[in-house]
Amino acid sequence: MTGGLTPKWKKSRSRTRSRRAQWKAKPPTLATCPRCREAVLPHTACSSCGWYKGREYVQAIKGSNA
Ligand SMILES: [Zn+2]
Repeated sequence: MTGGLTPKWKKSRSRTRSRRAQWKAKPPTLATCPRCREAVLPHTACSSCGWYKGREYVQAIKGSNA
């Protein structure tokens, strides 16, 4: 019981939970589509015009059911 690195008191459940409550969700990182100026997720084809890396991927997005 003489170890100097041991915390003196156990943290209560409410303290543990209030500390974890400090973690907040960040706003998602957004890039802008160079073609239609729509906010899109980076490294993802644009959801409104399907533009990505100079190519169009509209069919890959819209034709997923067909
Ligand atoms: Zn776009």
